[in-house]
Amino acid sequence: MTPSHITIIGAGHAAGQLIASLRSEGFTGGIRLIGEEPHLPYQRPPLSKKFLAGEAGIDAVTLRPLGFYEKEGIELVLSACVQSIDRAGHTLTLEDGRAFDYDALVLATGTRARPLPVPGAGLSGVHVLRGIDDSLALKAVLAPGKRLVVIGGGYVGLEAAATASKLGAHVTVIEAMPRLMARVASPELADHMLAVHRDNDVHVLLNTKVTALRGSGRTGVDAVMIEHGVPVAADVVLVGIGAIANVELAAAAGLAVANGIVVDAHMCTGDPQILAIGDCANHPSPFTGGRLRLESVQGAVDQAVCAAKTLVGKPDAYKAVPWFWSDQYDERLQMAGVPGADDATVLRRYDDPRQFAVWRTRGGKVTGVEAANSSKDYMAGRRLIESGKLIEPGQLADPTVGAKALLAS
Ligand SMILES: Cc1cc2nc3c(=O)[nH]c(=O)nc-3n(C[C@H](O)[C@H](O)[C@H](O)COP(=O)(O)OP(=O)(O)OC[C@H]3O[C@@H](n4cnc5c(N)ncnc54)[C@H](O)[C@@H]3O)c2cc1C
Repeated sequence: MTPSHITIIGAGHAAGQLIASLRSEGFTGGIRLIGEEPHLPYQRPPLSKKFLAGEAGIDAVTLRPLGFYEKEGIELVLSACVQSIDRAGHTLTLEDGRAFDYDALVLATGTRARPLPVPGAGLSGVHVLRGIDDSLALKAVLAPGKRLVVIGGGYVGLEAAATASKLGAHVTVIEAMPRLMARVASPELADHMLAVHRDNDVHVLLNTKVTALRGSGRTGVDAVMIEHGVPVAADVVLVGIGAIANVELAAAAGLAVANGIVVDAHMCTGDPQILAIGDCANHPSPFTGGRLRLESVQGAVDQAVCAAKTLVGKPDAYKAVPWFWSDQYDERLQMAGVPGADDATVLRRYDDPRQFAVWRTRGGKVTGVEAANSSKDYMAGRRLIESGKLIEPGQLADPTVGAKALLAS
């Protein structure tokens, strides 16, 4: 039965999309949006890119203006953190003691930055990058000549490194693994981005473990201590070692949690009145045959669309091909699919060394694609993953075989 009132916890990208989708699906009931941050739902990707560079302001990253929420009659409860959910009583309580009843509840609590577990991590001058306020704080201390040390060579850290380097900072990236983006990218893409960062005067240390941050309470951080090496001098440190799903609220309420809040293909938890969407949700994936928790705008948006359909009684199982992008300098990286570790790799190279695609295949079908400056390969890859059609590796490798031919073959 369609609920008469929907409460959403977390005012991020997924929540913003859910509200728009609920209204476009014809839901006319009440919607309450409770968010810990003081901001209206906004896009996080620019926080390490154009927003950090000062090329986009808060209005540009805000998903929809205040007028949208007023017009749609949305009750906004911002700067408010939900502390507990009472499932039996259908109420939730905020940290400030306020309590609200709910009819249907959607958890869209996202993730938080993983803390660096070494001495000195709490010194001033040590930053993380998750929200608008983090990006503003980092931007305020970046200036030409400042020494920024980024701990973690994943997407967010590398994007911030690229932006800081463009702003004139002296940037060092320290990565514990033998290559950049080790959890999420192929060795080919990682090698390419390593060369790009080094060409842009970013100093990259691989296989390097951070043991402590040095500094004093008075002056803040002044160096990053590493195993088997001399301290790396720092004016500013950015910790970018991944994110942790915000599941504590759900777990305390007795909902199943396993690398995210466990939901079915319709975004429903084990409680028929509670759904979960976005970075905090762990959902079944038709592409892995198992479960998946995505950290991507596309995951947040598609899951919000799916949840809206569930809530208005038009269920449509979530089956979108996961995709993701990253912009660093002038490099446009686009990735789709969830390849398995043992899937085969097929490389497509073009005359321009900046342009290439790394295809991943299993049983003659494409399971993943990483495209560097090659949107047509990315688009073809997404369609091939979706369709599950059999394809010759030779065709994937051949840069003269266009997207049309790939899809038709
Ligand atoms: C710097 C950066 C760059 C990124 N770049 C890209 C990119 O290039 N491409 C891409 O696809 N993705 C990118 N992402 C990831 C993308 O932004 C996320 O996948 C997306 O924001 C997830 O949306 P969400 O709504 O699930 O969570 P979020 O947007 O994280 O929102 C969750 C909200 O819930 C709030 N909340 C949590 N607990 C509570 C509580 N108890 N009470 C009230 N509120 C609560 C949080 O404060 C937060 O505001 C990037 C992320 C970051 C941080």
